[in-house]
Amino acid sequence: MFYDMEGKIIIFSAPSGSGKSTIINRLIPNGSLSLGFSISATSRKPRGDEKHGKEYYFLTEEEFRRKADAGDFVEWEEVYQGVCYGTLESEVKRITGGGQNLVMDVDVKGALNIKKRYGSRALSIFIMPPDKITLEKRLRNRGTDSEEVIEKRLRKSEYEMSFAPEFDKIVVNDNLDDAVFEAEKIIMDFISEE
Ligand code: ADP
Ligand code: 5GP
Repeated sequence: MFYDMEGKIIIFSAPSGSGKSTIINRLIPNGSLSLGFSISATSRKPRGDEKHGKEYYFLTEEEFRRKADAGDFVEWEEVYQGVCYGTLESEVKRITGGGQNLVMDVDVKGALNIKKRYGSRALSIFIMPPDKITLEKRLRNRGTDSEEVIEKRLRKSEYEMSFAPEFDKIVVNDNLDDAVFEAEKIIMDFISEE
């Protein structure tokens, strides 16, 4: 049998607070999925106990622009006004080149651009919160953002949810164990395809 050494690409997207990081962190230790997390670069400041090189590569706005101008990103977006996020080409190569499947957490526009670029090698999954009130509760309970940031994220959530039908799969994150189980099955089916 022929094995392609280049891993596949699994793209997660959702409104902030839907639980995508929580789901991704539960999936990564599952060895049979062979997942490697793509660490994005961002111009925002670390939140809570986030560390440079773990959750993100934290760059200044100027460093971010310089890398964008040099063409170092596969994609990047100004997700919130004045705050940029991007996927470095070196990250994609580091993970998929070693045969692992790449998991990325990107905004809705980034997700659809990556899907367009990689086609059938990529799978896009939208994590849907059960409803708006639950989303708001989760953002507040997380306790990592200021009131202003929470409101900014909630305002954007409806726009983000309007993109859900363009994704390959939608997983509703109501009960966490059920959502993780469903995502696991979707990914297993996808990576088992020739
Ligand atoms: P995102 O990465 O989409 O912004 P997080 O993974 O940070 O969201 O989740 C937001 C908050 O909601 C966290 O405090 C997380 O523990 C909590 N959470 C995630 N999924 C669930 C769930 N199914 N039920 C209850 N709380 C959840
Ligand atoms: P947060 O600040 O909550 O970590 O992330 C804010 C938003 O930026 C989320 O929607 C997240 O998916 C998105 N994001 C994170 N990394 C990237 C990236 O590399 N590219 C794009 N386009 N969006 C990203």
